[in-house]
Amino acid sequence: MSDDRTTSNPRPSGLAIDFSGDGRTGTEQAASPFKIDFGGAAPTAPAEPTTAAAVPLTGTHDRGRTEAKVIIVGSGPAGLTAAIYAARANLEPIVLAGSAPGGQLMITSDVENYPGFPDGIQGPDLMATFRAQAERFGTHIVDVDIERVDFSARPFRLWARGVEYKAQAVIVATGASALWLGLDSETRLRGRGVSACATCDGFFFRGKEIAVVGGGDTALEEATFLTRFATKVHLLHRRDGFRGSKIMVDRAKANPKIEMHYNTKVEEVLGEAHVEGLRVSDTTTGAERTMDAEGLFIAIGYKPNTDVFKDWLEVDDKGYLTVRDETGSKIEGVFIAGDVHDHRYRQAVTAAGEGCKAAIDAERWLESVGVVEESTAAAW
Ligand code: NDP
Repeated sequence: MSDDRTTSNPRPSGLAIDFSGDGRTGTEQAASPFKIDFGGAAPTAPAEPTTAAAVPLTGTHDRGRTEAKVIIVGSGPAGLTAAIYAARANLEPIVLAGSAPGGQLMITSDVENYPGFPDGIQGPDLMATFRAQAERFGTHIVDVDIERVDFSARPFRLWARGVEYKAQAVIVATGASALWLGLDSETRLRGRGVSACATCDGFFFRGKEIAVVGGGDTALEEATFLTRFATKVHLLHRRDGFRGSKIMVDRAKANPKIEMHYNTKVEEVLGEAHVEGLRVSDTTTGAERTMDAEGLFIAIGYKPNTDVFKDWLEVDDKGYLTVRDETGSKIEGVFIAGDVHDHRYRQAVTAAGEGCKAAIDAERWLESVGVVEESTAAAW
């Protein structure tokens, strides 16, 4: 991949951008080669296997405003896009961003499929631009985790770190977390050959031999997708029978580039600066062996971040929030956007689109109940 970011500034002015990167590209480089400084700590590669980054974007923990016409919970592409739209409609939103804000892109290195960045962009840098854009229009962002909500009446109430927030409308955009194996070596090499998103990172493994872990539809689909790039894909499953659908299993089995390894468990991801191989064990005999792989895709499922909402909102059989009429929920005035309900597309651009829709729906609903005047629609 070419990387001319050290010599050209792809962004409009208004942000201080330091392009003094070291020129490394792709999965070699988990940390950003440049930083956007809008007053806080620079985003860095995270270490914890969570949805969001280990390092806050700005470290905003102050209380500031605690009441708003709309409060947005979550600060990935869905939440911050909702904030941009709500702020531009003069709703002066508060974003409760989480203690590790930014969403799943904070644990992604190069993002090459987000429109508008022909040279690609680092995930944390993309989220920094989202955040700066939301703040530019008056969004108040607080990096706290919600502990409890009460949606029984308006104003809706949300609590974080002992502070009570009140809003006439709420947009839930808390996303989903990819599940990880939990190995130290997996965490260390994340963004350096270990990934949980074939759509995002598959391109970087062109001509390489790689492995996928899992036995469900995600693993089967990702293994098949990755054969477009890789010379060989090892599919590692801990049992001898797949959980995924028969058609996906048959398709993967018929693919000459995929080699199935049943009863196989990853014990360690080998390599210092990037993935160089795997140490795996046989789950029936315990016998260990090493295998070649320059990449490892973890495809063992996702967990939607719904814990504080599931007593109030409907969840489907997979635990994702259920939407009504595009972005609505069973509670009028509570809206839903992004991966917290979408287990089908799971893309930054689709989440951003849903954030836009949720903000428009929230604003129109606030008009309908008389909280805001019917004049802001033109602000979109
Ligand atoms: P699933 O929960 O269906 O499968 C997870 C897989 O990962 C299982 O095979 C499980 O093994 C394995 N696994 C779980 N934890 C570990 C671990 N710690 N170590 C090793 N292996 C582990 O998740 P998916 O993401 O695959 O699918 C979720 C849902 O989304 C499903 O309903 C699926 O059908 C759907 N989906 C549909 C697609 C489509 O229609 N195109 C594409 C992708 C997903 P075990 O089997 O032993 O439990």
